[in-house]
Amino acid sequence: MPPLERLYHRSPVPVQHAMATFYGMRERALRRGGSYRRHVAALDRDQWLPAGELEELQNRRVREMVRFCVSEVPHWRDLFARLGLAADDLGTASDLAKLPVLEKEDVRAAPERFVPDHPPARLIPSSTGGTTGTPLRYFVTPDAVQFNAAIYDVRFRHWAGVRFGQRMASINGQVVVPAGQRRPPFWRHNLAFHQLYLSAWHLTPEHLPAYVERLRRFQPEVVVGYVSTVHVLARHLLESGGAGSITPRAVLLSSEALYPWLRADIEAAFGCRAYNGYSLGELTAFVSECDAGTLHVSPEYGVVELVDMGAGTEIVSSGLFNRGMPLLRYRTGDAAAAGAGTPCSCGRQLPALAEITGRADDRVETPEGLRVGPAPLSLAFQGVPGLRQAQVVQHSVEEVTVLLVVGPGFDPDGEDRLRAELAARLGTGLRTVFERVEDIPRTAAGKHRLVVTTLGRDH
Ligand SMILES: [Zn+2]
Repeated sequence: MPPLERLYHRSPVPVQHAMATFYGMRERALRRGGSYRRHVAALDRDQWLPAGELEELQNRRVREMVRFCVSEVPHWRDLFARLGLAADDLGTASDLAKLPVLEKEDVRAAPERFVPDHPPARLIPSSTGGTTGTPLRYFVTPDAVQFNAAIYDVRFRHWAGVRFGQRMASINGQVVVPAGQRRPPFWRHNLAFHQLYLSAWHLTPEHLPAYVERLRRFQPEVVVGYVSTVHVLARHLLESGGAGSITPRAVLLSSEALYPWLRADIEAAFGCRAYNGYSLGELTAFVSECDAGTLHVSPEYGVVELVDMGAGTEIVSSGLFNRGMPLLRYRTGDAAAAGAGTPCSCGRQLPALAEITGRADDRVETPEGLRVGPAPLSLAFQGVPGLRQAQVVQHSVEEVTVLLVVGPGFDPDGEDRLRAELAARLGTGLRTVFERVEDIPRTAAGKHRLVVTTLGRDH
């Protein structure tokens, strides 16, 4: 743990609020300084470009990034030499397919080989928890931080009708409150962002009323969080008759698949639209939902390819602006489906995805050899009254354990109904064991996974 973080966790609560604010001031100066305004203007303007011009804009950025990689970055220089490729051989986004897919493990094993010989600016170290819980260290430039902040504002917040500076409640995976704490406050204030940061790790039935009470007084204009954390709050509001007592203008969600009934619960509980987004700490892809409900890819940010890696299509993405650690054809492990290609009624011609369906290797396998991903599987849990949360755990190809967190409205024959729904999708050869639990553990990054499997990818 870095010294500042250690100090934070040892400090009394008022000092932690102050430290959160101090951190916020420093972050605000970094994110919204330098080239932030220039990026906002360009991203705002370019979202309305015709498809052909967007494509040309992206190709130009691909050429610039590839040239930079080959002249400056050891890993890319050596790879191009080994493949007998010159920078000029990659003139368009589709030419990136001449490169092999880059695995996260390759970056983790030798991160310094992805750092340029002459960094264009001070490099800011960062790390991602990742859904597997093994952190990856990476580096970003201040310009990349500013570009990232600009796109989040222009193509996520503004599309949802909200702005930076409005009262914001965030429930992500960051540990802001010690895990063992038993009494509120389970949140800290970052006044620089006008932000109430709530712990994702204390969202238990016992503490939920305290969360609701705090949020009722704070009345956020926007709620930001992981799908699963916001959904826990939404379910509680719906079950306790508290729907409509917290009235944000929009809910911004990310990091996990947003299935239709999760969206329905969240929108009913908060009385506003929920917007879905997808991005990576490694800054290689940015996808956000417009007010017409389409998941648009921002082509200036990164090239998003959907590549069949053996169990459905996964996002493989190439970052186009972070010169602190350029990653090309980076395997994300996130499954997604391509858009239909029909024009969006919002008027933007940015490319689109049909859906992002969660971790690609979260698949249940049946004795018959069927492999079923979280998107179709999740339909089995749709509309079961009183079901708060579920997780399918598989350790052998003969059996799955289904963990259930149920509320008061759960029907006595709810399990039979679920068994039938699951059999409809997984066949009858797979044994299904139900287990009622108080809570379903989150990943190290604070996320929820519908499927946890210890069967290997190539099993
Ligand atoms: Zn649209």
